[in-house]
Amino acid sequence: MNRFDQFQLSDVILKGIYQIGFEEPSPIQSECIPAVLRGEDVIGQAQTGTGKTAAFGIPILERIDLNERSIQSIIMTPTRELAIQVSEELRKIGRPKRVKTLPIYGGQSIGRQIKALQQGVHVVIGTPGRLLDHLRRGTIDASHVEVMVLDEADEMLDMGFIDDIEQVFSFVPKQRQLLLFSATMPPSIRQLAQKYMHKPKYITVNRGEITVPVIRQIYYRVLDSYKVDALCRILDSEEVDLAIIFCRTKKGVDELSDSLQGRGYLAGGLHGDLAQQQRDRVMQAFRNGEIELLVATDVAARGIDVGSVSHVINYDIPQDVESYVHRIGRTGRAGRKGVALTLVTPREMKQLRTIEQETGAKLIASDLPTLEEVAA
Ligand code: ADP
Ligand code: MG
Repeated sequence: MNRFDQFQLSDVILKGIYQIGFEEPSPIQSECIPAVLRGEDVIGQAQTGTGKTAAFGIPILERIDLNERSIQSIIMTPTRELAIQVSEELRKIGRPKRVKTLPIYGGQSIGRQIKALQQGVHVVIGTPGRLLDHLRRGTIDASHVEVMVLDEADEMLDMGFIDDIEQVFSFVPKQRQLLLFSATMPPSIRQLAQKYMHKPKYITVNRGEITVPVIRQIYYRVLDSYKVDALCRILDSEEVDLAIIFCRTKKGVDELSDSLQGRGYLAGGLHGDLAQQQRDRVMQAFRNGEIELLVATDVAARGIDVGSVSHVINYDIPQDVESYVHRIGRTGRAGRKGVALTLVTPREMKQLRTIEQETGAKLIASDLPTLEEVAA
């Protein structure tokens, strides 16, 4: 039997879970929820799309004491977009219980955040830098924090947040519970765990157990100078609902989104040099379908979960295998079929083979659709 009501969850939390539309716990949730409820430190390793947010979110929400008007949990995420997304999911599940969640991230007015914090918040979800800023100003009081979460810990370390993370720890009581989630477990994460965790329970979901991503993986051999044309032919022949198109650089993102817009596609670019307002606008437009093609860098697209992304397109092949796994995890979410397409230039074939070897996946070679096929 695998049901949410097998855990020691209160009726208000169960109500929130069912209202958001979850019927059964995913494998990582089944293992994580009871361990977190018992107060254990947990390391959760599972691919993207396996439901890690609710795995830590549900037991945290369960344990919030509404009689206390204090911050009881701090969740750190690598990006603003992910902070917003996690906050939203927790807000929805926690709504019947009336748990207050707040995302905190750089780029948004600190004054507004301070006002929101003063309203009384139980769970704060933020990027490490901005969290630290509030802790130093005393506008976040971490002295009642019982549970800390590092979400997408590998990404946070990749992005150089280690010092900020350690600084944040220094504001939180020593006997807090620490939960760490990561798609991969490089040595830097193990070191972090060893330094800050107390007898962590290691929960990992094997590939075979993952029921979530069903992703068709295809590659096209193209010449560098024809990449835009190749992409357009693919876009015209595939049934693209929403797609995320990855470029290696910010400049590449700007150029490709301009060129797609110029050809009449509903495209928008997302990268770290854009103003926060602009990023929010692009994400909003993508979520409600005004933009069908989100052109992004790896960093900007980290952790983004837009339910109906039908295609992930690697316009530039990722530099490393972990990025490939993260990128394609943006499609095929929660059991829906997804497609991952990769453009490969002749000199990148070696990189493609490495990805195949290390992920154990077989990428299927496909011919570019011909002009006739596109027209038909
Ligand atoms: P991860 O953090 O592992 O990448 P998320 O927590 O973002 O994954 O979850 C991926 C998607 O699956 C989200 O849209 C989430 O709402 C959905 N989801 C999570 N748990 C369940 C569940 N038990 N049943 C149905 N959908 C779920
Ligand atoms: Mg996640």
